Amino acid sequence: MRLTTYQTGDGNQLGIVTERGILDVAAAAAAAGVQRSITPDAVYGRGNAVLGRLRMLAESATDAALYLNEADLTYGPAVPNPGKILCVGLNYQKHAAETGATPPDEPVLFSKFNNSIAAPNEVIPLQGDWTRVDYESELGVVIGATARNVSVDDALDYVLGYCNMNDLSERRLQMLSGQWLLGKTLDKFLPLGPYVVTADEVPDPQNLAIKGWLNGELRQSSNTADMIFTVAEVIAYASKVMTLSPGDVISTGTPEGVIMGMEDKVWLKAGDEYSVEVEGLGRLVNRMVEA
Ligand code: ZN
Repeated sequence: MRLTTYQTGDGNQLGIVTERGILDVAAAAAAAGVQRSITPDAVYGRGNAVLGRLRMLAESATDAALYLNEADLTYGPAVPNPGKILCVGLNYQKHAAETGATPPDEPVLFSKFNNSIAAPNEVIPLQGDWTRVDYESELGVVIGATARNVSVDDALDYVLGYCNMNDLSERRLQMLSGQWLLGKTLDKFLPLGPYVVTADEVPDPQNLAIKGWLNGELRQSSNTADMIFTVAEVIAYASKVMTLSPGDVISTGTPEGVIMGMEDKVWLKAGDEYSVEVEGLGRLVNRMVEA
């Protein structure tokens, strides 16, 4: 199943991508006599436990009026309000090499906050002094069940689905101290979407092409097979330290091709457009603007 979030005057709405168009889940639920409101927050907050009911709704929605034309919709962030945003640094062999870093022995985990969440096609404000802005195409993981101290073998059972992410980064702030946080969590610096593709449709998250384009020029082209720590290893590792909850998201690191790794560093500027495409997850496009 392919979920999406779109915006109306009433806020973020959940949609399911179908051959007939985007199913308006709230309207389909109302038509089926479901009392509970089915918003993106409600669904991601409950996780895998509600996917079966969503599938049933999609199968029983026969009225053509319940389907919307995707081209007419304004996307919201694929997961609008994650409880936690974890990111993995230096998690691709060739990316670690281009930054001059020794490949880490343990996953390098850091976080962003919800102010960094942005929607597909939403403009990204570039702020005043913070001009060394870089892109990072990443495979995003949405947690679907409470995970505490899970094994690597079981870890993927706790995944609801996957989405594109762009872990935008301001390199001066990132390197200003030993703590990357500030350079990572500027407003709107984590666009994600347009879809959350449920885990059953992504049988092997370690064999997905991952690509990124700056103004149409291919800048990043790799495969999630190059990850140093797999999705399962990252989940298992994080869950030994903290409880992961439904609706948490993990951005699993970027492959080589970032601006930081280039000899001539031409940072992102207003008007630039970056597109991220992880195989099977659609395309995430965002344009930079002056704040
Ligand atoms: Zn990153």
